Amino acid sequence: APTVYARPGEDGSVVSYRARYDHYIGGKYVAPASGQYFEDITPVTGQGFCEIARGTAPDVDRAVDAAWAAFPAWGKTSPAERAVILNKIADRMEANLEALAVAETWENGKPVRETLAADLPLAIDHFRYFAGAIRAQEGGAAELDQDTVAYHFHEPLGVVGQIIPWNFPILMAVWKLAPALAAGNCVVLKPAEQTPASIHVLIDLIGDLLPDGVLNVVNGFGFEAGAPLASHPRIRKIAFTGETTTGRLIMQYASERLIPVTLELGGKSPNIFFEDVADAKDSFYDKALEGFTFFALNQGEVCTCPSRALVQRSIYDGFVADGLERVGKVKQGDPLDLSTMIGAQASNDQLEKILSYIEIGKAEGAKLITGGERADLGGDLAGGYYVQPTVFEGRNSMRIFQEEIFGPVLALTSFDTYDDAISIANDTLYGLGAGVWSRNGSQLYRAGRAIEAGRVWSNTYHQYPAHAAFGGYKQSGIGRENHKMMLDHYQQTKNLLVSYADGPM
Ligand code: NAD
Repeated sequence: APTVYARPGEDGSVVSYRARYDHYIGGKYVAPASGQYFEDITPVTGQGFCEIARGTAPDVDRAVDAAWAAFPAWGKTSPAERAVILNKIADRMEANLEALAVAETWENGKPVRETLAADLPLAIDHFRYFAGAIRAQEGGAAELDQDTVAYHFHEPLGVVGQIIPWNFPILMAVWKLAPALAAGNCVVLKPAEQTPASIHVLIDLIGDLLPDGVLNVVNGFGFEAGAPLASHPRIRKIAFTGETTTGRLIMQYASERLIPVTLELGGKSPNIFFEDVADAKDSFYDKALEGFTFFALNQGEVCTCPSRALVQRSIYDGFVADGLERVGKVKQGDPLDLSTMIGAQASNDQLEKILSYIEIGKAEGAKLITGGERADLGGDLAGGYYVQPTVFEGRNSMRIFQEEIFGPVLALTSFDTYDDAISIANDTLYGLGAGVWSRNGSQLYRAGRAIEAGRVWSNTYHQYPAHAAFGGYKQSGIGRENHKMMLDHYQQTKNLLVSYADGPM
C-alpha cells in the first residue's frame, strides 16, 4: 500500500465519485422531485466534490412504493437465498476494500488507517454475521395437547425506514441494512446530509446483487427527507441513529402510526481507571494508557466516545502525566496518510460546535491541560476541519462533563473510592458505553454491573464485534444493534395455533 493515498480524482486514486448522485430508487438513479441538489464537502480540505439530490416527501413516497413493489418476492425468499446474497455483498466489498475505505475517509475525514482496518472490515463482517444468523434462526413448535400445536414463525415487517448519522456513514448503514435485509425486509435508507456520497459508492458496487427496490436510498436533510420517511404511513418500522433530541422527534412521528422504533442516540461515556492499574508499569499499564487516549479515536465523533475519564486520586498525577504524554503521540494529519491517527471533524458545523464547547469549558472554570485550538495543518488541509486533541480537568457537574461534544475533547476528573467512581459514572442522562480498567476481576465485574450503560468495556474499549449487543440505557436509546437479537427488531412473530383433531373443539 502507498504511504499516502491519492485524493479522489487524482492520478493513482483508487476511488472516483460521480459528479452528481441522485436518489437510488427501484434499482436506478432517480432525479429529485424538487429538481434541487446540494454540495457534498470533504472535511479533509473543506472543498465541495459532488452534488447530491435534495430529497423531499415525493421522493420518499416513490422509494416506499418501489420497496413495497419488491417486498412480495423478497419477503418470500428463503433464508438461504438471502444469506447467499449477503455473503456476495461482503465479498464484493472485500474485493473493493481500499476504494471504499478511501471513499469513506474522503467523505468523513477519518484516517484511512481506520477505515481500512476497522470501518470496512467491521461492515463486511456484519453482512457475513447476519448471513449466518438468518441461516441458523429457527422458529418453534409447542405441543399444546395430543392434537394441538402452536407454531411460531418469524416473518419480516415489510418496508422499513432507516435514518443514519455522519460519523460512520458506511458502518452505520450496514449495521441497519444487514439485519433488515437478512430478515426479509425492504429498506428505504436516508444517509446524513453531511456524508451521503460514500454510501453511493457502496451502492454502485453492490446494487446489482439485490433485486430492484429491495434497497432504496433517498438523500437529503432531516426535516425535508428524514421526517417524511419517519412519518410515512406505509413504513412498518423506523430505525434511527443520531442525536437524542432528534430521537424524541422520531418517536413522536412513529407514535402516530404505532410502529416500532429503535433508537441509537447520544452518550457521555465514563472511562474509569482504578488505582491497581498502576501497580506495575507493564504491558497492562501501557494498554490502559492507550485506553485513556481513545477519546480522540475517530476525532471523538463516536457515540460511545470515552469523553469522561475518572482516575483514582492515589494514582492521579502519575497516570495522567503518562496519559498526556501518550496523547501527545497521537499523530494528527492528512487523513489519507496511513500514519495519521486523528483526522478531520466531519463538517464545519461540527468543528464550530467543538470549538464553542472548548470556550464553554474555559468559561465554566475547567482547567485546559492540552490542546484547545483548531489545528492548522497547512497546504490544502488548511481549509479542512481539524481540532487538536484537548483535555480539560474539572468537575462532573460542568457542562463539558454532561453534554455530548462529539469531538476529541476529554473531561478529566478524580475519585476517591469505588462508590464515588460509580456515582460519578452514573451521574449523566446517558447510558451508552463505559470503560473500566482494573487488575482485579471481581472489581471489574462489580463495576460493570453497577454502571448504567448498555455496553461496558472491561480492560478494553472501542471494540464493536457483530456478535455483541450494542445499545443504550437511559436517554441513549431504545433497542439493540448487532448480535442476532437484532433480528427481533426486524421481524414479527406469527403464531399458528392448529388443531389436528377431527372431533369437536
Ligand atoms: P442528527 O440527529 O442531527 O442526525 C442524524 C440523522 O437524522 C441525519 O440523517 C439527519 O438528516 C436526520 N434527521 C435530523 N432531523 C430529523 C428529523 N426531524 N426527522 C428525521 N430525520 C432527521 O445527529 P447527527 O448530529 O447527524 O449525529 C450525531 C449523533 O449521533 C450524536 O449525538 C451521536 O451520539 C449519535 N450517534 C449514536 C450512535 C449510537 O449507536 N448510539 C452511533 C452514532 C452516532
